[in-house]
Amino acid sequence: MTPRFEDLGLRPELLRALADVGYEQPTPIQQQSIPHLLLGKDVLGCAQTGTGKTAAFALPIIQRLVENPRPTKGIRVLVLAPTRELASQIGESFRDYGRHTRIKTVVIFGGVGQQPQVDAIRRGPEVLVAAPGRLLDLMGQGYIKLDQVEVLVLDEADRMLDMGFIQPVRQIIKALPRNRQNLLFSATMPAEIQQLANSILHEPVKVAVTPVASTVDLIHQQVYFVDKKLKPSLLQHLLTDQQVKRVLVFTRTKHGANKVVQGLAKARIQAEAI
Ligand code: AMP
Repeated sequence: MTPRFEDLGLRPELLRALADVGYEQPTPIQQQSIPHLLLGKDVLGCAQTGTGKTAAFALPIIQRLVENPRPTKGIRVLVLAPTRELASQIGESFRDYGRHTRIKTVVIFGGVGQQPQVDAIRRGPEVLVAAPGRLLDLMGQGYIKLDQVEVLVLDEADRMLDMGFIQPVRQIIKALPRNRQNLLFSATMPAEIQQLANSILHEPVKVAVTPVASTVDLIHQQVYFVDKKLKPSLLQHLLTDQQVKRVLVFTRTKHGANKVVQGLAKARIQAEAI
């Protein structure tokens, strides 16, 4: 049976937002995570970008916020992301999926002026998406309090590790209330991430999805092992196949690209290097 968003227990205003953005079916990570997250469970997700993991956590989180309104202002959801690009994308997703709700999301990261971010925080968002460095900065200056946080999401935890953010992340977590829902997503699970997961997740549900295919099925891939000096003639041979109309050739260097073009020109095959 084709999986449907309607069957995952999501509220009508979220289903409307999904229809607005044109999603027809939940992806595997969404099918696996959303029902558990709606029940308030911790989740350890092994998934890469491109699998739909952002919606997998954003939808149930928005639903929780809508169904359990709180009269006091304060950040209720903290999402930590390693880079400004990822933080911005996550922020966009919360805004997209929450467009028929009153949930407010603010994104903060370093490398830009802090005042607009401080002003935005003062307006009392429920959701804060943050890169760890800037968050610690603003916490240190007293602009951000995390004592109301109910849900913590660590996204791309392995990249946080690569970028040296594990200590900052641990420091941030110390400022959170003990009783909360925790989600950790990572494409890979090196020992350090496993340890981090063990220390913050409480009886987590484990979900794992294989990455979506990175090449189109229609592409037929072949590998030829040849001597370096034979490569130009092999390339010419392949390019003279009548089926082959438009071709991209990748080289390691600019110089290599120019040499390929010159070689092809001698064989009267038109090519350009960029
Ligand atoms: P993510 O893995 O969260 O970075 O998402 C990858 C891309 O898939 C984003 O551009 C999403 O907008 C899109 N996406 C997420 N869920 C769905 C879905 N159920 N149907 C179609 N597109 C989706």
